[in-house]
Amino acid sequence: MGYKEEEYLQLSGIQHFLFCRRQWALIHLEQQWAENYRTTDGELMHKNAHDDRKRTSRGELFVLSGMHIHSPRLGLSGTCDVVEFRQNKNGILLHDKPGLWLPYPVEYKRGRTKPDASDEAQLCAEAMCLEEMLCCEIAEGALYYGETRHRQVVTFTPELRALVERTAEEMHQLYRRGCTPRVRPQKGCQACSLNGLCLPKLLKKRSVAEYMSHELGEWS
Ligand code: SF4
Repeated sequence: MGYKEEEYLQLSGIQHFLFCRRQWALIHLEQQWAENYRTTDGELMHKNAHDDRKRTSRGELFVLSGMHIHSPRLGLSGTCDVVEFRQNKNGILLHDKPGLWLPYPVEYKRGRTKPDASDEAQLCAEAMCLEEMLCCEIAEGALYYGETRHRQVVTFTPELRALVERTAEEMHQLYRRGCTPRVRPQKGCQACSLNGLCLPKLLKKRSVAEYMSHELGEWS
């Protein structure tokens, strides 16, 4: 029981979906993508995190970059920036390493901690994929923020896991319907990588300058 491989959606879409369903639909349904500074810089950071040269093994820590993951239960697939395997009696066997190892996902983000739970949900979804693939239980992982150079530990609580399950289900429902939600302006629009594609459709009555001035005013 579960989703077929051809039905899998991109796991990283969870962060887009929780930020703005329209943004998710533009990217994942309509294949739109704006290569502005935020996304390009973020891509570079992920490229570095996936760099094979970063594979290391140090004592009780084995670090794997760019591991492909999937979950038939959630219907999601993607790639982990980094999975740190730590020696742990509750861990799993690795074919080329003695002992037992527990995976600990680490996701790299360009900016800083967000007010919503989108980054935490993406990381938790990665952990849930790893649990399903490797038959283990993962209690926590970490988000690394490039702007603040801060590593934040995330505990995979029942509430966070429920948010992931709910979001994955809603993503599939919207994908099946195949319709892009209407514009719903929010504060995050000014930082959205797709506002150049999305907002002009919205601004039939107000100019972009008026809209941005209004939004920036609210943020200052
Ligand atoms: S500009 Fe605003 S409404 Fe449009 S996709 Fe971005 S966040 Fe969503």
